[in-house]
Amino acid sequence: MEDGLHFDKIFNSHLPYLKASRTPPPANIRRRFNNLDSDVIGIVITVRQPLSIKVGKNTARNTNKREITLIDGRSNTIKVALWGDLANNEGQILSDKVSENPVVILSDVKGSFYQGEFSLSTTMISTMEINPSSTDADELQQRFKSFVCGKHVLHILPPTKRMREAPMVDLKDIIEGNIIELFCTFKTIIIKVINKEKPWYENCKTCNRRVYSRYDTTLCEKCENKKASFIRKPILKLVVSDGIDEAHVTLFDASDYLSGCTQSEYAEDMKNCETKEKCKYYKNLVTCQGKEFIFLVKTDKKTEPDQARKYIIAQEIKKYELLEVSNVQNEDDGPNDKKKLKIKKDASTH
Ligand SMILES: [Zn+2]
Repeated sequence: MEDGLHFDKIFNSHLPYLKASRTPPPANIRRRFNNLDSDVIGIVITVRQPLSIKVGKNTARNTNKREITLIDGRSNTIKVALWGDLANNEGQILSDKVSENPVVILSDVKGSFYQGEFSLSTTMISTMEINPSSTDADELQQRFKSFVCGKHVLHILPPTKRMREAPMVDLKDIIEGNIIELFCTFKTIIIKVINKEKPWYENCKTCNRRVYSRYDTTLCEKCENKKASFIRKPILKLVVSDGIDEAHVTLFDASDYLSGCTQSEYAEDMKNCETKEKCKYYKNLVTCQGKEFIFLVKTDKKTEPDQARKYIIAQEIKKYELLEVSNVQNEDDGPNDKKKLKIKKDASTH
């Protein structure tokens, strides 16, 4: 397969644009956009629900935005924000087909850096082809199948660049607020998944605010609607421990990693099974209890009491072994040698 089709090539081709700054770009860099001169081909692995976003300063016009994640032939992932019709129409098709992992070709998209992460965004002129008949698409599908090998793709995805490059620290340092870096990782055991029965919250489809659901009413206070239609948004509340300190970790988008499914699939499965213990996704959440995971967190520099820092929001989660394997595989990456040593040293002292 041609190298131009890999996401790291797209990423690298954007670096000249940022030559005044460090590589990778610092997290606090202003959001910058740059048109891509090539098409992007990738396999769809996640599709989020659309969000209604206000556009323009003086108009009350809303447009839909939907985030998808693509993977390339080297298991690099990239997030793409679909806007307007692409979010509504193509986005819905992708949402229906996501379990089949369709291939998409995107043309005329823009690249941007946000919080140190590179992502893509569609514009008024962007187009998307779903499952195109091309050799590149076929080849990519084949690679993907041999890589995934029948497992759930979210479970075997290597950690992102951001996660690999973040220094690993002790839970204690996060609780005490000793971290200088913006992102860091820590290793703990999940003691308990608190909300196994309902790993989601409900947002109003019209105004995107949280709705209160009880029995058969779903109340949106803003819309004054007792039967508001809603979308399920992922949330997992965990109790974790490294043997010394204990903390609460909340996952939002990263929840799928542990449950192995979307919130609709989870709700459907719970409805169809006689007992919750028979639901395969519920079982996924039970079996991760007592196992060791790595969490990526964005540190909070605000001075807070230690007690508040025991409530951590994590951006990413991976099984511990995956981080180690991935660091060995990426030894030719070069620039993050120091960080790797730090992780390895840290691992050997536990
Ligand atoms: Zn509402």
